[in-house]
Amino acid sequence: MKLLVTGGCGFIGSAVVRLAIARGHAVINLDALTYAACPDNVAEVAEDPGYAFEHADIRDRVALDRIFEAHTPDAVMHLAAESHVDRSIDGPGTFIETNITGTYQLLEAARAFWVRHGKPEDFRFHHISTDEVFGTLGAEGQFTEDTRYDPRSPYSASKAASDHLVRAWNETYGLPVILSNCSNNYGPFHFPEKLVPVIILNALDEKPLPIYGDGSNVRDWLYVEDHADALLLVLEKGKLGRSYNIGGENERSNLELVRTICAILDEKRPRDEGSYADLIEFVADRPGHDARYAIDPERIREELGWRPSVTVEEGLARTVDWYLMNEGWWRALQDRDGVGARLGVRP
Ligand code: NAD
Repeated sequence: MKLLVTGGCGFIGSAVVRLAIARGHAVINLDALTYAACPDNVAEVAEDPGYAFEHADIRDRVALDRIFEAHTPDAVMHLAAESHVDRSIDGPGTFIETNITGTYQLLEAARAFWVRHGKPEDFRFHHISTDEVFGTLGAEGQFTEDTRYDPRSPYSASKAASDHLVRAWNETYGLPVILSNCSNNYGPFHFPEKLVPVIILNALDEKPLPIYGDGSNVRDWLYVEDHADALLLVLEKGKLGRSYNIGGENERSNLELVRTICAILDEKRPRDEGSYADLIEFVADRPGHDARYAIDPERIREELGWRPSVTVEEGLARTVDWYLMNEGWWRALQDRDGVGARLGVRP
């Protein structure tokens, strides 16, 4: 297939681009190159004859129309977004503009292209979203695809709005869409403002390891390469108009997760004295911090036969290895605006 991937210089988008090219698909990577983008993430496929890059913003309808006509994609995989919850607390405007208005512009450009080309039945608009749209859970229960939407941060509210737009374009205009909502990703090329890389990199620099609140917040952790694999499967085999929850089947509290990373680092790069866990520091909680997310993976498992390939311990060990071997990549990003600062604290 010829895939138009938005946000392909980001963390998950670049994993999708690398895997799609490795599987023989052609990819057009459309990215605005915001602070979160790293073109190096796709360096290994940049010279592939099936790869093309388009520097464009999903809010720019003129650019989108040109790109659709120039490349005539078989499918869109829409990952471009503002993605950091803490930044959405400090500056929700760009989240509304990119995640909602940008998705609207992309849907309209895709619809116009699809209509111009005779409404091909096999065209797909795959919208990639988050489990955060479902809100927060107590100690029990899991999110299914039918869980009521209840977003609680500017980020998750903007993603929820974009999900609604995608469903509406399917119901109203018949645009062939498919959605997926996944849990917290981690793995290689993760931008150094998110929890897992912050912990690894602070530990390597002997800096405090910040844990929000008491560290009891629970997330389901999904290795990014497993997510990319699931996304290509959903695109190829998922039922039209349907959504699929994608999880890692690995729930951990933030404190457990951080302790696991410390134990892996203690083995791979021991400190002169003590454990990296001695650097753990509890800091002010995030306002409106959701207590627990958990994914019921039954639909994707039963309908598409998909399960994650690694446990969080295996995936974190691979991730730590990657950061140890790629210091040049992450050092260069630590100077970017806001990286390393505490963001998203209620004024
Ligand atoms: P990311 O922040 O690492 O990358 C986002 C990419 O989108 C960047 O390359 C950026 O330049 C690009 N982008 C931003 N605004 C743009 C615009 N207006 N036009 C074109 N490109 C733009 O994000 P990520 O973590 O890779 O997440 C990708 C998608 O997956 C997002 O839609 C996110 O909501 C969703 N998601 C992420 C997670 C996670 O754990 N990271 C979990 C569930 C869902």
